[in-house]
Amino acid sequence: MATVETAFRRAREHSVQHMAACERAFLPWGETAVTEIVISRAATAVSVVPFTQPAEATSGADWIWWWVDADSAYGMLVQAKRLTVHESNWRFDFGYRTTAGGQESILRATAASLNLVPVYALYLGTGGYRNWEPCPDDHRVMRCTSCVKRSISLMPALLADPAIVNDSVTTYERSVALEELWKPSSTRTLLIPTLVEDMDPELINFLLTPQSGVRQVAKSMIDQLLRARAGQFTAVSPSAPSIVRSGGHDRLGPVFPDLPSDSGHWGVPYFQHALEPLRHAPPDYVLEIQSGEFDADEVASNMPDDVTGVIVVRLPQNG
Ligand SMILES: [Zn+2]
Repeated sequence: MATVETAFRRAREHSVQHMAACERAFLPWGETAVTEIVISRAATAVSVVPFTQPAEATSGADWIWWWVDADSAYGMLVQAKRLTVHESNWRFDFGYRTTAGGQESILRATAASLNLVPVYALYLGTGGYRNWEPCPDDHRVMRCTSCVKRSISLMPALLADPAIVNDSVTTYERSVALEELWKPSSTRTLLIPTLVEDMDPELINFLLTPQSGVRQVAKSMIDQLLRARAGQFTAVSPSAPSIVRSGGHDRLGPVFPDLPSDSGHWGVPYFQHALEPLRHAPPDYVLEIQSGEFDADEVASNMPDDVTGVIVVRLPQNG
């Protein structure tokens, strides 16, 4: 069995080969084909449980991704979106607020009902397609390794505002390469001082200390939100008196049961949004998939129709 790192690298390399072949033939490449490549290559190292026959799969199909290691688990609902470049203008079709009940709000609602964080998998094409616009990660030369890895990047759906995400700088700022997701990041967490006042010391420690594995996957999502939050002018919402939930600190529940209620200009308590899906242990359907003792139809019957399948990534303990 390949390591997770090798499998995801191959997923990206093969996706880029496909995108490059399409570019040479003046064919547009689509989200469905790239998703097939990513998931089939990842499948050499992770568990993949599809719910529908490939023929029934539609584009805009959402996959549940669970990241699991020895002490925590983190769940995402992932929808693929390709980049379209016009000169220096970058565009994704997030289906954002075009209609009530558009694709974007369905993704958010489905994710909330399953206690998952909604995320976009951004397919950014080949470096050439992106004109090798410099990435923010230690970029020195064209074709730098970080730029190359950016062909498949993840962005919290909360940050997918097409009025803001319309060039390389904002796209890179608000996303992370799939292959870097669980690796300790050198980027400092941007915390507004007033936010820290009533914050759970364990949460402060989590945010200010480099993490690896599943906790880093969760941290990379909240870090993106906090960086965007630091750029907003909205005052920090006063903390609601913290509610000690029944079973709050239990071994199976959320890792951080006591989260700030600040909502920024999104109007969404973004700490809950990004960190409630970080749990001490994954839900039963994930445990069943990991043990190999599950019935895909039964798992599917408990899921909304727009969920195409489940992917479980077992990460090595130290990144
Ligand atoms: Zn670069």
